[in-house]
Parts: sequence; structure tokens; C-alpha cells
Amino acid sequence: MSPLQERPERKGQRFGVHRVLEPIGVLPQPALRLDNRFDARWDNEIVIEVETLNIDAASFHQMEGACEGDLDRVGAMVMETVRMRGKQHNTVTDSGGMLLGSVAHIGAMVQAPGLTVGARIATLVSLSLTPLAIERVHRLRRASAQIDVRGTAAIVSGAPFAELPSDLPERLSLAVFDVAGAPIQVSRRARIGDAVSILGAGGKSGILCAVEARRCVGSTGRVIGIEAHRPYADDLRALGVCDAVIDQDATDALAVYESVLGANGGREVDLAICCVNVQSAEMATILPVRDGGCAYFFSMSTSFTRAALGAEGVGKDVELIIGNGYARTHAAYALELVRSESALRALFERRYGG
Ligand code: NAP
Repeated sequence: MSPLQERPERKGQRFGVHRVLEPIGVLPQPALRLDNRFDARWDNEIVIEVETLNIDAASFHQMEGACEGDLDRVGAMVMETVRMRGKQHNTVTDSGGMLLGSVAHIGAMVQAPGLTVGARIATLVSLSLTPLAIERVHRLRRASAQIDVRGTAAIVSGAPFAELPSDLPERLSLAVFDVAGAPIQVSRRARIGDAVSILGAGGKSGILCAVEARRCVGSTGRVIGIEAHRPYADDLRALGVCDAVIDQDATDALAVYESVLGANGGREVDLAICCVNVQSAEMATILPVRDGGCAYFFSMSTSFTRAALGAEGVGKDVELIIGNGYARTHAAYALELVRSESALRALFERRYGG
């Protein structure tokens, strides 16, 4: 028995507040600093030996810009953030990501039937609230915003996680889990015959939303993708799920408005989903939506103020929804989508599986 196992476990707080160092009394996500020491055990924590971080796309994009595209500097920046804050919580974008690793310890009060030490899991809660210590950064992969590290993390009992399936590459599953909240929300909102526009449609969440939208709206509906990155727009075209894929900058609201209506027979759309990794796409999402329709903001770069005041300013009576990263069964739903669409699976394996 190791010395750690011999020591009695400390009683953890349900929402992980026992890890908060500053300011005392807040929850782990808004906290400035978490306790990321793992020399003591808490009875409600699952401790994980971390192998890969999947950085949130908006955060990765911001760090890449700040480091002038130098991935070594991005790695160093992540090390520094984690050293300072005890978690990978980007101070500019306020977002995190999630992680993949092996279960190293299961606290006595953890409710996770069937989970065993050694199990391969991905966390489904944000890195912006996950206590994390990193010993080393090994490798960064730009296409997937994933970073291989040696580190330790913990999640509290009740926090969502998923065991990695054996039929898909682990990094691919991690990539899909990262944005698993997106396609299930499309399935809840898009109806047969609807017109749906998706901004950042060639990226990871955008593609999943486009495939799901095609399934939901059927042959009488329309799926319109906006994507600024030419190779990703071409990938999306090749999938054949969109009625139109438009190479366009989603921060140009008027141009997007014109082209979405142009691709939808002059009519506004029923549902618009924002999946870009940059700021200022609020109005390009809202403008083409019909009164009574819905603008769904999955993007972490979304400004509540810009969306709410912008919609008001143009007299748009549309429902504005903040993309909740969690929905019941979202991880299984997203994996099933990838498994059941062979072209989507092949594309994701090529982009994110390596
Ligand atoms: P992604 O794979 O990087 O996709 C974003 C796509 O948008 C990329 O293809 C990107 O092109 C494109 N894009 C960037 N700027 C654009 C512009 N001005 N006009 C049109 N397209 C543009 O990102 P993701 O992993 O799908 O994530 C998408 C968003 O969801 C991010 O903001 C991320 O933070 C957020 N997210 C939210 C949750 C949640 O819980 N709500 C969870 C995970 C992620 P480039 O390749 O050239 O950048």
C-alpha cells in the first residue's frame, strides 16, 4: 500500500469548493486560483493521470495569436497558466477545454458505478474549473488543439465524464467529446423543412451541426454553411450535407445576411448556429434569422451584450440561446453520429485521429 493510500481522505465539498484558494467562497470556475496539489486525497474526487488536454478552440486560437503562431510558446503559456491558476483557465477568453487520461484514484464517497482504477476517461467538464498540475508538455497538435502532457487532475463525484470507446481512436473521441454539446442541441431545435445556417460550419462543432441539421430538416429543408477557412469549406462541400457552403468571413454581418438569404430563396432562416472560434460573429448569426426563430451561440467567443443589444437594435424578435456544453446523453449522441456517418468519420479520423 502506498503512503498516500494509507492516509485518511479529507471530506470534499460537493461542487469542488474545497479546491478554491482565491477568492474563498466562490465556485471553482469563477475562481482565480485552485489548489492543484495531489499529495492529499479528497473523498469525493476522481484523480486522473492526464495524457492529453483538448484546449477550447477559442482559447487555442487566442493563445496562438498571442504567441505569433509559435506552438512551443503556446505550450509554455499553458504551463504558466496552470502554474499560476491551478487550472487551464484562459484569462482572455475565460474558457478551458477538457482532458483525457487514466483513473489513478477513486475517493471513497465517489458515486461512479463500474468505474475502476486504470479506466481511460475523458472529462466532460471544463478545464476552467478542473484542478490540474502539469509536469511536462510533450507535443501540440494545431488541427485538434490538443496538447500531450504529463500531469494530474481531479473531478468531483457527479461531474460528467465518459469512458473512451474501444472502436474509435482515443484522440478522435476526445475531439468529439469536446463539442458534444452542439449536435444534440440541433436535434432538439431543427425540424423537417427548416432552413438552418451554421457559422464556422467547416470546423469541428460546425460539421457535426451540419450533419445533424441535414438529418433533421430532411430533403425539404435547407442547410447553409459559412466558413472562412478554404480547406475546411472544401471538406464540408465534399461531405455533401449542405445545400450551400459559402466561403465568407462570419464577422461581416451584412455580407453574411445577404448570402444566407441568397442561398435560401430570399427567405430568412429558422435557426442559426454560431460555431466560430473568433469574436464578433453575433450579428452575422442573428441578422438572417426570421422573427420567432432561434440564434444558438455555441461559440465561446460570443458576447452576451453584443448579441442582446444587437438583436434589440435591429428589432429582431428571435430567441437567443447560450450553448450549454452539457446535455444529457450528449457524448453518446455525438459519438453515434460519427459512427453512423462513414464520410464524417473518415474526415474526423484524418483531422483529429492522429
Ligand atoms: P474549430 O474546429 O476551430 O471551428 C471553428 C471554425 O470557424 C474553423 O473552421 C475556423 O476557421 C472558422 N472561422 C474562424 N474565423 C471565422 C470567420 N471569421 N468566419 C467564418 N469562419 C471562421 O472550433 P470548434 O472546436 O468547433 O469550436 C467552435 C466554438 O465552440 C469555439 O468558439 C469554441 O470555443 C466553442 N465551444 C463551445 C463549447 C460549449 O460548451 N458551448 C464547447 C466546446 C467549444 P480556422 O480553422 O481558420 O480558424
